[in-house]
Amino acid sequence: MLWHDNADGDIEEHTLLRGLGLEPLEDKFSARELHRQTRNRSAPIKQVLLAGDIVVGVGNIYASESLFKAGINPKTAAGKISLPRYEKLVTAIRETLAAAIEQGGSSLRDFIAVNGQSGYFQQSYFVYSRTGQACRICTTPIRQIKQGQRSTFYCVVCQR
Ligand SMILES: [Zn+2]
Repeated sequence: MLWHDNADGDIEEHTLLRGLGLEPLEDKFSARELHRQTRNRSAPIKQVLLAGDIVVGVGNIYASESLFKAGINPKTAAGKISLPRYEKLVTAIRETLAAAIEQGGSSLRDFIAVNGQSGYFQQSYFVYSRTGQACRICTTPIRQIKQGQRSTFYCVVCQR
């Protein structure tokens, strides 16, 4: 529990909350916002998505899947990605999460609670956990790399 006096300003400005990113399904999370907040970031986009300071709730699976759908190489520096490409990415993140919720639970929270055990969403993965298997779009074998201790899966042809 967090005590906050309204006289101290907006709750979002509290020291403990200020560092947290936006929820991907809320309106404030937009391509423009993602673009603006990443201009000085040289870290790979995959790690920026997982870091939680710009957007929260995009886990390892969804980051890999969304980057595939948006055609973005997970190693691309976040600051080098254009606004139109972030528009594709935001759409992909929302669609991926919405599909996961539909198939795995009644809310994002429910879904995350059972994440990893749910067999439904897993069947429709494009890249996650598909190392060496043919890309569903171009048949190139899916590649697996490590980024900040986490596995990333992607297609070298579809994701530039
Ligand atoms: Zn491909």
